[in-house]
Amino acid sequence: MPSYKAPFDDVLFLLNDVFRVERYANLPGFADASPDIVEAILGEAAKFCEDVLTPLNRSGDVEGCTRHGDGSVTTPKGYKEAYRQIVEGGWVGISAPDEFGGQGLPMFMTQQVNEFLSSANLAFAMYSGLTQGAIAAILAHGTPEQKATYLPKMVSGEWTGTMNLTEPHCGTDLGLIRTKAAKQADGSYKISGTKIFISAGEHDLSENIIHLVLARIEGAPEGTKGISLFIVPKLLPNTDGSLGARNAVACGSLEEKMGIHGNATCVMNYDGATGWLIAEENRGLHAMFTMMNEARLAVGLQGLAISEVAYQNAVAYAKERLQGRAISGTKAKDKPADPIIVHPDVRRTLMTIKSFNEAGRALVVWTALASDLHHRSEDDKTRQAAEDHMSLLTPVIKGVLTDTGFASTVMAQQMFGGHGYIAEHGMEQFVRDARITMMYEGANGIQALDLVGRKLPRDGGRALQAFFAEVQGFIKEQGANDTMKVYVEPLGKALGHLQQATMWFMQNAMAKPDNAGAGSTDYMHLFGLVALGYMWCRMAAVAHEKLKAGANGSAERMNAKLVTGRFFMERVLPETGAHLARIQSGAASMMELPAEAF
Ligand SMILES: Cc1cc2nc3c(=O)[nH]c(=O)nc-3n(C[C@H](O)[C@H](O)[C@H](O)COP(=O)(O)OP(=O)(O)OC[C@H]3O[C@@H](n4cnc5c(N)ncnc54)[C@H](O)[C@@H]3O)c2cc1C
Repeated sequence: MPSYKAPFDDVLFLLNDVFRVERYANLPGFADASPDIVEAILGEAAKFCEDVLTPLNRSGDVEGCTRHGDGSVTTPKGYKEAYRQIVEGGWVGISAPDEFGGQGLPMFMTQQVNEFLSSANLAFAMYSGLTQGAIAAILAHGTPEQKATYLPKMVSGEWTGTMNLTEPHCGTDLGLIRTKAAKQADGSYKISGTKIFISAGEHDLSENIIHLVLARIEGAPEGTKGISLFIVPKLLPNTDGSLGARNAVACGSLEEKMGIHGNATCVMNYDGATGWLIAEENRGLHAMFTMMNEARLAVGLQGLAISEVAYQNAVAYAKERLQGRAISGTKAKDKPADPIIVHPDVRRTLMTIKSFNEAGRALVVWTALASDLHHRSEDDKTRQAAEDHMSLLTPVIKGVLTDTGFASTVMAQQMFGGHGYIAEHGMEQFVRDARITMMYEGANGIQALDLVGRKLPRDGGRALQAFFAEVQGFIKEQGANDTMKVYVEPLGKALGHLQQATMWFMQNAMAKPDNAGAGSTDYMHLFGLVALGYMWCRMAAVAHEKLKAGANGSAERMNAKLVTGRFFMERVLPETGAHLARIQSGAASMMELPAEAF
């Protein structure tokens, strides 16, 4: 049975030492997030995840969800009780505004809790995670009445939320949506159509489910310019807030799938269901993007979270499993063989995952802080810069943290040899669960296209230039510092590769767009490596400072940080060179063969 321990110390190091969140005490909600409060809240979350959710991960996977004849869906045993604790603990609304019953705490708190939840039990964490995304969309685009009707119950977790985009013939290309919305005399709409793959579409955890549904109003233009967003509750709320009639929306079936069995993935049938428009007519995709962007960051975090729990179990196994002797000489003389952690190739694997996890977590915290600055700062320039950061980093976090998170999970499974392939140790479940993160919320190929096609050129490349300037500024500041050379020099080289790749696109992709498409995934990973390398440099600088100042009981951890960062710089970051070479080879060999030749 796998185990999980929330990486509490690592999180506190990032919040208190690397990003020094107390600097932002003047922002709304930050004064309530003093170090002791953060520690207390995250400590509670860690305990809940370790003690309650981790044991349900495997049983939930084995049992899965069940659809009954009347269309209702039961979640695995223990989910209902655990979800009650989510509501009682106020975990859904940690960062939601006080006026709707939230705690108003910074977004970095929500992200951190979500990492713990997703490591402990990804399938379960999705129920509350999707609700947070739906809350964000209603907050940004709902009318005052809609906010008053839905938000308090969603923020408390009593009602959950879903996002309904996908249809059988349309996933990436949402311009093909066919679900229809017919306007009624009272201003509501009748929604008809079929949505597939809807996570948490029907279940028994909450008393109501609020579906956010993309549909086309009769007579709307073709394509993405004719799509609107609707709130469609499972049970129609009465004006006094009580629950009324059942709406004409039902789960037609549950998808049989590879992983996340504890999350109900539903075919949802809308049969003239009553819905209300959110945002303007035909601007639905724009409004849904609020939820999608939030969800993309959340999915990136899921990739990291599974990598973390898989890593923890791989380390425990590598310390116990006795096979062979160390090539440098016997280590465990009293045992028939040495534990496999003595072997360099096992170390290579574990260090690769560890160095990704710790930098990935830093990248998530950095971006969550940008989200806080974007929503809470009073300074226009700060808000703009924070929005630029989020917009640029969202596809990178989604694409890189899930591609690499999955690869890390497979590497962790590999540490178990054949024992990783059988179910007993839980490693094959992590692999199955992690796989979806690369596909949903926009497959990763689409994230790469979003980065290269939309995010790089946006506002004349303002966000990209700001990112370059920040990394260059750090390199300049730390370049003369001898102890930082092993970190800063490789980062400078990797940044150079990213700049060359960007220039190559500017010179070669305008006239031949296939060159951009052909290099986009490599570019996304090249970008991700530079961002992760930058995170390592920042962590190394702080670790050095702390060691110089006496480290106050954390010397061992700070030394481990420095070594792990060095490993990343020496053994992982050089991949930027291969990405650049692939990008610069262009699209020719990729596109030359006719489709019939495949
Ligand atoms: C378990 C699960 C849960 C899900 N939950 C939800 C949910 O809650 N709500 C919801 O609405 N949807 C949900 N989805 C749907 C998911 O978001 C889609 O599957 C995903 O967006 C991809 O769409 P698709 O499957 O139709 O693939 P397609 O769009 O058919 O894409 C197939 C492949 O082609 C590539 N591709 C497509 N177009 C292009 C292009 N223009 N350029 C380059 N490559 C391209 C893609 O990258 C992909 O690799 C879920 C799916 C699953 C499996």
